[in-house]
Amino acid sequence: MEYRQCKACRQPFRPRPQNPDQCFCSAAACQRERRRRWQAAKRQNDPDYRDNQKRAQKAGQSATPTIGGHIETSIRNTSRAIVPGSGNAHSAGLGLQRWTRQRRK
Ligand SMILES: [Zn+2]
Repeated sequence: MEYRQCKACRQPFRPRPQNPDQCFCSAAACQRERRRRWQAAKRQNDPDYRDNQKRAQKAGQSATPTIGGHIETSIRNTSRAIVPGSGNAHSAGLGLQRWTRQRRK
């Protein structure tokens, strides 16, 4: 298996066999970066995704007001510093996972 250079930290890493197109190593920070770029690209190219996000936020707001707000804010702020333990990055990740699972069904 060949080595690749991680797009975030520039360190060589081995892509997983299940994911030969992998561009980021498995470090948590690099995975966060991958997700951030993925979301940014998705927001630009996929109107479906935007709609889905809006719907998710609306649903979240009617049930538990803070969750929708948190996800929205943390997605917008991921380009800036994520404060470890703030919980924002975590809830954004959860929201994305939930969404990804729904889409793959
Ligand atoms: Zn990396």
